[in-house]
Amino acid sequence: MKTADLFKQKTVFSLEVFPPKPDADERVIYDTLNQLSDIHPDFISVTYGAGGGNNGCRTIQITSDIITKYHTPGVAHLPCINLTKVQVAQILDSMMANGIENVLALRGDIPDSGVMTGDFKYASELVTFIREHYDCNIIAACYPEVHPESKNAVEDIMHLKSKVDCGVNHLITQLFLDNKYFYEFRERTQLAGISVPIEAGIMPVTNKRQIERMVKLCGASLPTKFIRILDRYGDNDTALLDAGIAYAVDQITDLIAEGVDGIHLYTMNHPYIAHRIYDAIQNLI
Ligand code: FAD
Repeated sequence: MKTADLFKQKTVFSLEVFPPKPDADERVIYDTLNQLSDIHPDFISVTYGAGGGNNGCRTIQITSDIITKYHTPGVAHLPCINLTKVQVAQILDSMMANGIENVLALRGDIPDSGVMTGDFKYASELVTFIREHYDCNIIAACYPEVHPESKNAVEDIMHLKSKVDCGVNHLITQLFLDNKYFYEFRERTQLAGISVPIEAGIMPVTNKRQIERMVKLCGASLPTKFIRILDRYGDNDTALLDAGIAYAVDQITDLIAEGVDGIHLYTMNHPYIAHRIYDAIQNLI
């Protein structure tokens, strides 16, 4: 099932997981998937470390298992920043051989050294490459609060439009904690003539260190309402867990009421949290 077709039927609800670290036991991800399976998500995507190593093999294996063993559409992420065209072709050949027909085409973050060793400068070049050589559904990333490297929202949306025109079928946003950024972004996409479905990426924030890391990595802003929660419950893990889940449910409820195409939940491999959120919103989707 190609993910773009799902949006014709309903508000899509999808999950994201990441493979275990190379030195960690592979079985932990299958415990996670077992626990997530009764949510019956519309698809599950599997991240891929831009750093390389054998992470990519695990991404392909896990995505393939999601399709064959969990009977759920699987999406494999593919960041190209450190890859040559030959390497990308080898990875895509392996994906196709493993029945993966949905690829999230990404550039990846520029390493601190600033050195980019691959053949692709932007995700749009990867999208073009995939479109030319493979018959698959292509998903891409977008940024309601503007990608940190973009000078401004206009430049950002122009680059997004070019990327979509290279052959993207559906978009997933970076996480955001204030829905107003999503609504403003959605308006910009409409003005730019971007008409593919856009899923809102939601990350339930349930511990203080996670939020500090997240803000540093992707530059998501913290709304006052959220800062108040952190001030009050930041040192009480159980209370922050409940407050973080309630906050995410509130965000999702509002997005669905405003007609969002889909919700992509960054599960951080926490089935308990994903379940609590799903239980609260399952009748809305
Ligand atoms: P691009 O679309 O190439 O954009 C990067 C920047 O370049 C933007 O500022 C854009 O405006 C600019 N740009 C684009 N085209 C041009 C042009 N022609 N001229 C000048 N500037 C241009 N990373 C991983 O390593 N692994 C993952 O699994 C992963 N999964 C992700 C999933 C989602 C849903 C999201 C939102 C992000 C994910 N990332 C992942 C992070 C992503 O790799 C980074 O955000 C990265 O910095 C940008 O990737 P991109 O594909 O959006 O890049």
